[in-house]
Amino acid sequence: MSSTSRRDFVRMSALAVAGAPLVRPLGSLPSIAHRVTPTTSRQEKKLGFALVGLGSLSTNQIAPALQKTRNCRLTGIVTGTPSKAEDWKKKYGIPDKNVYDYKTMNRMADNKDIDIVYVVTPNALHLEHALAAASAGKHVFCEKPMEISVERCQQMVDAVKKAGKMLGVGYRCQFEPNHLECVRLAKEKVLGDVKVIDANFGFAMGDPTQWRLKRDLAGGGSLMDVGIYCLQTARMLTGEDPIWINAAEVKTDAVKFKEVDETVMWQMKFPSGVVSNSVCTYNANGLAGFRAATTRGWFGLEPAYFYGGNRGRRSDGPEINMPPTDQFATELEDFADCIINKRQTKVSGEMGLQDVKFLTAIYESIKKGRPVTI
Ligand code: NAD
Repeated sequence: MSSTSRRDFVRMSALAVAGAPLVRPLGSLPSIAHRVTPTTSRQEKKLGFALVGLGSLSTNQIAPALQKTRNCRLTGIVTGTPSKAEDWKKKYGIPDKNVYDYKTMNRMADNKDIDIVYVVTPNALHLEHALAAASAGKHVFCEKPMEISVERCQQMVDAVKKAGKMLGVGYRCQFEPNHLECVRLAKEKVLGDVKVIDANFGFAMGDPTQWRLKRDLAGGGSLMDVGIYCLQTARMLTGEDPIWINAAEVKTDAVKFKEVDETVMWQMKFPSGVVSNSVCTYNANGLAGFRAATTRGWFGLEPAYFYGGNRGRRSDGPEINMPPTDQFATELEDFADCIINKRQTKVSGEMGLQDVKFLTAIYESIKKGRPVTI
């Protein structure tokens, strides 16, 4: 991540892990040792990952996370910057033959060291890089949002399916223990039925020149980047897809956010009658939580969407504060386990496509100035 505010966001996440005064005093903090949830693989095999795009997420989160897994190893890189390749080769012991650029990555077909290609480039480049990986006969793990249109998501799903490989999307919260605890509370109706969900996420965007503010590369603004977490929360807690969406955008800086949305607010209705309410923004910090209101109380996380330090409360007393994990290590270990043991990933390409469909409906509602049914 090249932007100042992305750095701020990462720093905020780190502070949260280190116990910034978000919810409770420093003295009661858990250990920050990372724990990867054990999976049930039948064989001890390490699958080789090649990272495409060596930006902030790859550098600061994914490559370190791969070192913590039992069944994954970082074996290859795809980059357009030769100096980065040199650094990564030294740091992770990657041989020359496993270093590619965006034009040569289709040559991976001959490379047995690489089983999975993890696409970590700007949103609108995901398809191109996933297609190259699939045509080289590799499994594909793709960062969120999966792509910038439903059609492009569908092309990715089709290509990976045709190659007979597995496709997963980087929804780390699907593996975050506090989120999973909230899903359990919802599913088991521990506090009654969930009726209303409030989920919000945002940060103040720094560098005005970065790709996140360019429509061609990002596909949209705060909604595509962080609003997607709120959508995921509502889908996770309800286990349902929205059937009605009403949305509006507010722009206070028409220069910086000329090409993409700055702040989006939207409501969704779900088949069971649950309603959700969300705001996402590129122009303010301090918005990163959710709360579910239920027939007998409430539960929620604040913060909910950081890389570490997420925690929450429930109305009947206990804190929600599961032992810390590295969300990236857990999701990648799970994806490798799915391939090794031939089971379907819960963060499938179909899930990624569905999310882009709902994000598109939110944009449609903004454009039309009225609710849309799905
Ligand atoms: P970044 O800007 O730090 O890195 C992007 C990388 O893509 C860079 O190495 C850059 O050189 C490369 N690149 C290749 N072609 C490019 C082009 N035409 N223009 C710009 N860069 C180009 O971005 P990032 O924060 O690492 O995000 C990458 C992806 O990961 C995005 O899809 C983003 O949504 C996703 N992401 C996910 C999470 C998460 O928590 N799961 C967090 C951050 C980012």
